[in-house]
Amino acid sequence: KDADRNAVPQVETSAYVGGAWVEAHSGDRFAVTDPATGETIGHVPDMSVADVDDAVSAAGDALTVWRRMSVLDRGTILRDWAELMRDSAEGLAITLVREQGKPIREAVAEIGYAASFLDWFAEEARRSGGTTIPSALPGRRMLTVREPFGIGAAITPWNFPAAMITRKVAPALAAGNTLVVKPAEQTPLSALALARLAERAGLPPGVLNIVTSSRANTPAVGHELSTRPEIRKLSFTGSTAIGALLMSQASATIKSLSLELGGNAPFLVFADANLDLAVEGLITAKFRNAGQTCISANRILVADAVYTEFAERLTEQVSRLVVGDGLDPATSIGPLIDAAAVAKFDAHVANAQQRGATLRFGGSAHPRGGNFVIPTVLTDCPSDADLCNEETFGPLAAITPFTDEAEAITLANATVHGLAGYAYTQNADRAWRLADALETGMLGLNTAEIGSAAAPFGGVKQSGIGREGSHEGFLDWTEEKYLCWAIN
Ligand code: ADP
Repeated sequence: KDADRNAVPQVETSAYVGGAWVEAHSGDRFAVTDPATGETIGHVPDMSVADVDDAVSAAGDALTVWRRMSVLDRGTILRDWAELMRDSAEGLAITLVREQGKPIREAVAEIGYAASFLDWFAEEARRSGGTTIPSALPGRRMLTVREPFGIGAAITPWNFPAAMITRKVAPALAAGNTLVVKPAEQTPLSALALARLAERAGLPPGVLNIVTSSRANTPAVGHELSTRPEIRKLSFTGSTAIGALLMSQASATIKSLSLELGGNAPFLVFADANLDLAVEGLITAKFRNAGQTCISANRILVADAVYTEFAERLTEQVSRLVVGDGLDPATSIGPLIDAAAVAKFDAHVANAQQRGATLRFGGSAHPRGGNFVIPTVLTDCPSDADLCNEETFGPLAAITPFTDEAEAITLANATVHGLAGYAYTQNADRAWRLADALETGMLGLNTAEIGSAAAPFGGVKQSGIGREGSHEGFLDWTEEKYLCWAIN
């Protein structure tokens, strides 16, 4: 383990603006912390409004060249970048684990997933043209071309420090936009490491700019990115509260928005489900990244008929999860991101118990202390428990029984959120009914492995606007221009 720690690759600790590795105007830096040990693993520039100014002008300067470059040439750079990521997957994964905490095999998988967006959008861009429209106006030709917005901004979260960058950057750049990216303050090192590889892949200066800032400077930077008139599109992944704030700030300049916000995913297990698959799926949907994903199962609804058996099998599986340092290959549950996340986890466990839930496994502090918690199972969780109404973002599985399909659907939809949902049933008619009835942007039927660059990722209700990945994700970074051409 110590050997792995020493093998931490040389990390970039300057920000990347206009193709240069720079400090903040203020000269200030802030610390990046390992959530497993509390150790400081690096310092990065603490940027603010003046630095955003530089980044926006660099992105503006780069725009003419970048958008005029052929779509094939842009695609080549993106694919070379993906290749460099795969070549350095291990080093990138170690950096990612050190600043974020997830198990190393999940980090390696994330690097592959992150690279897949670059490949996907390099291809997507070259096949996504405008249209010709059969003329509805006499003596005129009607056609459309698809154009980039221009300068875009992206604000990304800490739970997928690499994939959340490329899921926005790849379609934006493939379409010919230039970007200013503000990574989460907890995980700037992965963003900077990716930028270094982009530079090596030949990305021209100013096309991608990474502005790092501490929590203290983030509101000012966020305000700037959401109000500057030169920035035409803002893409954000994070909490619903900050999404709403950015949306209101962006309204003054009518910015186009993509928002990928909080979820509160229902996980439904019917009496006709394959229980082996359902338990396995729940372990993935609930415990991947220690439950810190926006598509994590949050409300687990199980049919009366299989409730006891499901609870037993689940508890058995959860008891086998290994809590530890993400760099230890045996680990399946790393630390939570910070003390506030641990406090929320503890509060959700306590609140559910106060309201009548039964503790089946875990629930107490982990002997390692710090940001480590014991994966926990609660049964008979009432639907008015706090954890049913807001994401826990931790390894807490709370099960609630239901009697019939109608009740399951009502409970599943009883939330303002609508990102992912999961349902396990072997009855095809029921599966179709659920596909129609569940108010989510994404639905896993008999599977919890739903992420793919080819799939449209996004939410309904208060979980967001727009889709990332897939053809939709490309369209979200372009605007259609209509040309009406008279023939004289
Ligand atoms: P979380 O609670 O999971 O950290 P946030 O929505 O707070 O979720 O964070 C997601 C991203 O939004 C991060 O990059 C964070 O720095 C950024 N962020 C937080 N507050 C603001 C703000 N006021 N304006 C702009 N971005 C913000």
